[in-house]
Amino acid sequence: MTAAPPKPVESRRQRVLYVACEGESTEPDYLAYLNQRFGDGELTGEPFIIHAVWKKNGYKPEETVAAVKDKAAEDEAWALFDRDEHTRIPQAVAEAAATGVEVCFSHPSFDLWLLLHFQAFGGRQSGSSNGVKEKLRKADPAFANFDKRGDKSVKGARAKALQGKAAKAIGNAQALVSGCEHGACKAAQAKRVQPKQRYEDGTAVPHAPKSPERWAARSGHAVDCRVLDRDPSTDVWRLLTSLGITKDD
Ligand SMILES: [Zn+2]
Repeated sequence: MTAAPPKPVESRRQRVLYVACEGESTEPDYLAYLNQRFGDGELTGEPFIIHAVWKKNGYKPEETVAAVKDKAAEDEAWALFDRDEHTRIPQAVAEAAATGVEVCFSHPSFDLWLLLHFQAFGGRQSGSSNGVKEKLRKADPAFANFDKRGDKSVKGARAKALQGKAAKAIGNAQALVSGCEHGACKAAQAKRVQPKQRYEDGTAVPHAPKSPERWAARSGHAVDCRVLDRDPSTDVWRLLTSLGITKDD
């Protein structure tokens, strides 16, 4: 068991995002790392704060979407979830498309996003994270014991090992889009997620429901590239580019 990441503090000029995570340790720690490293806007000129939404023993994919809708109210809502062995991924994407929750789907798992900070990756994983995890353990000494004895945290030396590598991770993740077996998927087709539009009185412009296919194609995959076929892939890079994080040195 690891302790909860530190609670973020809000200020007015910050962009405010609620990000729900399937996991209870890796993803919340990573989001805390983003707050610590980039949240003040010194490196990007775009201050932000992420409130991680998670629960002990984790959420299922659909639950991340429901939980973040509930918590975010009129602020930006994102959901991170993995392929793993889940069966209801399409339903989670459909719910997100209907309600305007941004999705960062990882296939097979969020661990792939961590690995991409160190190296490129490819080849079908069929929902198993074992191959990704093995490579991650070898990629940097800080991750040598990752997910051994239940320690999936991304704190201290592990967070430090990610520093300076955001651009590399984004590039490697984009290469997976462009290398998708579908053949018509291209990272250059991806749409940057803009901050939530607001009326003059500050209330949010309501989300116009989208088809799940179109919503899931905003990561650069073709409209008819099924989410479950994007093996391997991870959309976490879209959260970073949306926040103006394109380099970190
Ligand atoms: Zn694709």
